[in-house]
Amino acid sequence: MSMKCLINGPIVLKDRVAEDMMIIFDDTIREIVPADATRTDVTYIDAAGKWIAPGLIDVHSHGCVGEDATTSDAEGIRRMCRSVATDGVTSWLPTLMTYPLESLGRSFDLIRGLKKESVYDKAVWGGAEILGVNMEGPFISTAKKGAHLEEYIIPPDKDFVMAYTDIIRLITLAPELEGAMDLIRELTSSTETRVAVGHTAIGYEEALEAFDAGATEVTHLFNAMNGIHHRNPGLVGAALTRKDAYCELIADTFHINKGLFQLVADCKKDHLVLITDSMRAAGLPDGSYDLGGQMVQKEGIRCLLPNGTIAGSVLRLNQAVHNLYTYTDLSLPEAICCASLHPARAIGVDRRKGSIEPGKDADLILIDEDMNIYRTITGGETIYEN
Ligand SMILES: [Zn+2]
Repeated sequence: MSMKCLINGPIVLKDRVAEDMMIIFDDTIREIVPADATRTDVTYIDAAGKWIAPGLIDVHSHGCVGEDATTSDAEGIRRMCRSVATDGVTSWLPTLMTYPLESLGRSFDLIRGLKKESVYDKAVWGGAEILGVNMEGPFISTAKKGAHLEEYIIPPDKDFVMAYTDIIRLITLAPELEGAMDLIRELTSSTETRVAVGHTAIGYEEALEAFDAGATEVTHLFNAMNGIHHRNPGLVGAALTRKDAYCELIADTFHINKGLFQLVADCKKDHLVLITDSMRAAGLPDGSYDLGGQMVQKEGIRCLLPNGTIAGSVLRLNQAVHNLYTYTDLSLPEAICCASLHPARAIGVDRRKGSIEPGKDADLILIDEDMNIYRTITGGETIYEN
């Protein structure tokens, strides 16, 4: 691949914004050098004053544009990868709902093939890279099932999970289930699969035990768990105070009131991870849509089951960054880190993803202050231009 050079925009580095610099890259970032350096061996890309930021990473998204990671075929999942790229997402974890294990196994096999495809030829692929799967069910608590179908919820099946750890990058477990703590220990000591606690009714002490056993993340903080109370701090209390626990946040202003964004940002700092938790209606008009075998009514930014239960979101990740930036004192680069470097660290891919640094993949986006996306580059290839 020939060398390219991105020039003429402030560069959002992980700890500062660099002015008057340019980025030399092929499939990886090679150098960040002063903008007046003379290079004859590169093809220039003019950022035209737009911010140059790291590509966004969504570790929790079920679907969009009518497709769903659990039920779509290969072409459907490719469509999702191309759609999220228009939001500035350069890599992500297709996220599976509670389904029978045989069906999840088929999804793992399908997505494993697509993951390879997403890496070996960016230009043909044309969408965000697949980093693995986020397995949200079925090892969750029926008491906090949210929009997951109760009939398929089961206690953890260790043999099943261990057979797919090459593709499961993140798994949600309810620690109170029989065998869950064992599985947390086994996964986090012998595989690269990260464990999030969520869809659970555990209290504060049990949450600390789960973190001590190896869990490192909390699935969509505040949602599908007990709330915080001063005599009963619960999982929320443990998540907010335990500094090394990454917390996923659906910053759509509906799942969590925007008044709490600052509290979470202050508590979690570099452990705050913006996610979309989007379902197939994302990017589509209001109406009725299927989610994990149940009908969901989408109205504006709300998605509800007939009984009023919140069922996924229609949030896009660039909008989540914009919301966090708008309703907290975080700078735009700090808000961007919550959807790039922090998720990369949370799932252990920060050696090659998550920030603009020499040696990392050339996953870059051009944005304005409202988080409109002008160009998405993944592995050095432009996959979206607006
Ligand atoms: Zn969920």
